[in-house]
Order: sequence, then C-alpha cells, then structure tokens
Amino acid sequence: MQAGPKPTTVDSLFVLGVRIDAVTFEQVLASIEEFIADGRPHQIVTVNPEFVMAAQSDVEFRHIINSSALALPDGVGVWWASRHLGRPLPDRIPGVDLVERLAALSADRGYRLFFLGAMPDVADEAVEVMRKRYPGMAVAGTCAGSPRREEDAAIVERVRATRPEVLFVAYGAPAQDHWIARNMDRLEVPVCIGVGGSFDYIAGVHPRAPRWMRHLGLEWLHRLITQPRRWRRMMALPRFAWQVLWSRDRG
Ligand code: UDP
Repeated sequence: MQAGPKPTTVDSLFVLGVRIDAVTFEQVLASIEEFIADGRPHQIVTVNPEFVMAAQSDVEFRHIINSSALALPDGVGVWWASRHLGRPLPDRIPGVDLVERLAALSADRGYRLFFLGAMPDVADEAVEVMRKRYPGMAVAGTCAGSPRREEDAAIVERVRATRPEVLFVAYGAPAQDHWIARNMDRLEVPVCIGVGGSFDYIAGVHPRAPRWMRHLGLEWLHRLITQPRRWRRMMALPRFAWQVLWSRDRG
C-alpha cells in the first residue's frame, strides 16, 4: 500500500501511537494542490479521539493513519491532547470544513470532486447545497455505494471513469479509510479523503453545532444530544482522555 509522500514541511506528533500532523488550514490546502500536481494517489485521514481509540486494537487502521499523506486533527479532543503533551496544534481541521474549503478551491481552480458514500441521495443534496455556495464548483460524480468488499470493483470503475482530482469517501471511520487504502492504487485519484458524516451535515440530514458551541469545542456534546444513538461509540472520548492523561507518550 502506497499512501503517497507526506509533504516535507509537515511536523507531526503521536498521541497514543497515532500520528497527527501539526498543520494550518492554509498548509493543508497548499499540500493538496501539491498532491494534485504530483498526480500519484494520496490518502488523507481526519483523526479524532474515536480514531485514536479504534487504532489501539485495529493495527491495520493505525498503519493507514500513520502512513497517510496527511493525518489531520479533527475535533477538540486531539487538540486538547496536543496541549497536554506540550505540542499544541496550530489549527483544528474538521472534515466538513475541509470539504467546504475544497469546494471553494474547486470553483477557483476547476478541480473535479467526486462524492462517494452516505445514504442514497444525500451526496446529491450536499452537492446541490454547495453549488449554491460555491458557483462553479466542478463535480465529477456522486454515488452512495457501499463499503462492502464485493462492491469495490464496480465502484472503483465508476469513480475512475470520471477522472476526478479529489475523492471524498463518506462511509464513517474506519470503513472509509480501509476502503481508500485497499482501492487507492486502482482508483488513480490524486487525493482521497475519508470525511465521515460530512455530507449529512452539508445536506442538513444532521444539524451542525451552532458556531458558539464549535467555538467552545463542544461539537461532541451537540453530537451526543442530536445523535444519542452514538453514545456507545462516544464512550471512546472519556477513555481517550483517561489514557492520554496517564500516558508517558510525550509526542
Ligand atoms: N455510511 C454509508 N454506508 C455505510 C455506513 C455508513 O454510506 O455502510 C455513511 C452514513 O450514511 C454517514 C457516514 O457514513 O453519512 C458516517 O457518518 P458518521 O457520522 O458515523 O461518521 P464519523 O464522522 O463518525 O466517522
């Protein structure tokens, strides 16, 4: 598996053995432009505490994150951990914000975006919303598909045929990141990014936390209130905080 070269200027820290890159939004966009110019496939992951905890037992997932082209800090938990470890991250890069920034970049540069995943029609609805916000955004295609291995070949063919520069995969973690890792070489798409529930937020299927809550780092609380079925998965958060507090891992 080749995740593409990591940009040379990027500094990283390790939280419980999982890589997180200390990057600003501007650096991320500049790196993505480099990846597109390079043309080889690059995998980008957006790491939050649930990823870090899943990667403790899923060794392959940890390998995917640690060898990715960019491991972006998504969520206040990893930002807090970086401060605790004495290596404060310069920015937080939520997946949904990255999708929007790339939609704007696409309108500007003509990069073609492919939206894979979420429930049927959600990707199309998200595209419709973004087309209004970013007129000129170039869409290569959309497809709900499925992360099941039996469907890989057909979906890869469908994406390849449209020759996008950027592929968003919204199957949730870690399924989306495994999907990209095993299909990346056949896809021949320069930038592949796992974006979790981003299409749901943009399409309005799930409300995004209000700005003041995001500002206070309370997106996780909003998620717990609006999607209470996630509580079991979200137990990863206190486990993450506990392990970081007691870890000797100093980046
Ligand atoms: N999803 C999908 N196919 C599946 C399982 C999930 O398309 O078999 C989509 C789901 O509709 C949602 C996204 O994957 O849009 C997962 O969102 P979630 O918020 O759980 O992801 P996270 O950001 O927590 O990784």
